[in-house]
Amino acid sequence: MIRLSGVSKTYDDGTVAVRELSLEVGRGELVCLVGPSGCGKSTTLKMINRLVEPSTGVIEIDGQDVTHVDPVRLRRGIGYVIQQVGLFPHQKITANVMTVPLLYGESKATARERAHELMSLVGLDPEQYGDRYPHQLSGGQRQRVGVARALAADPPVLLMDEPFGAVDPVIRGRLQEEFRRLQQELGKTVVLVTHDIDEAVLLGDRVAVFADGGRLLQYDTPARLLAH
Ligand code: ADP
Ligand code: ADP
Repeated sequence: MIRLSGVSKTYDDGTVAVRELSLEVGRGELVCLVGPSGCGKSTTLKMINRLVEPSTGVIEIDGQDVTHVDPVRLRRGIGYVIQQVGLFPHQKITANVMTVPLLYGESKATARERAHELMSLVGLDPEQYGDRYPHQLSGGQRQRVGVARALAADPPVLLMDEPFGAVDPVIRGRLQEEFRRLQQELGKTVVLVTHDIDEAVLLGDRVAVFADGGRLLQYDTPARLLAH
């Protein structure tokens, strides 16, 4: 599904963020990228949706080189969730989730219905929360809205950068488990960045362990990683 072959990234200031990375993510698989701060996890994620261009190497999705796909079309197929989800502060929650379906030309009624479905899916009652504004939700709830909005385009691929990082630790465990169930149910291919090895082991079908300097140390199932 997603294949990185010999991918490196050196930023303009000479920082080597990712070094000779080769990695495959299967369809419907959840892969966690884990490692210390600054080891190139976010850069790797951003190269997949072309927010960052690799210096060398090839990234393919379904056998197609991403540099040959129009970036706008590419990103339609890839949901992107970051730690501080950028919700529109002056729009109610339902409107925030409706944005993507509306952009794709859905009618208002269909987009609203879709938004409510997705909110229920991530465990946010649309009746209760749909008419609130982002600042009237807790951190955990805002993060759910971010996931719902990313799912609104029904992308086969989700890229998530510390999606549960800003959430209260008690709520985080519940969100992680709910998200895992949701991912399995929807069959999405997910690449998730975290600095938390426990989270990586809990969520990942496979875990890619990075070291400083953007090197991949290990890539294996949690069970085999823990056996070492
Ligand atoms: P991680 O997600 O693992 O914390 P990043 O991919 O964000 O790591 O960063 C990897 C390295 O690249 C770090 O040394 C970081 O400072 C550097 N870096 C990230 N973005 C840029 C940029 N736009 N310009 C220069 N250096 C960058
Ligand atoms: P969490 O533990 O998920 O961070 P909080 O303690 O922040 O939750 O919030 C608990 C409840 O209070 C939630 O149901 C949330 O919707 C509600 N809430 C939080 N902030 C506000 C606010 N400014 N206005 C109205 N309700 C709020």
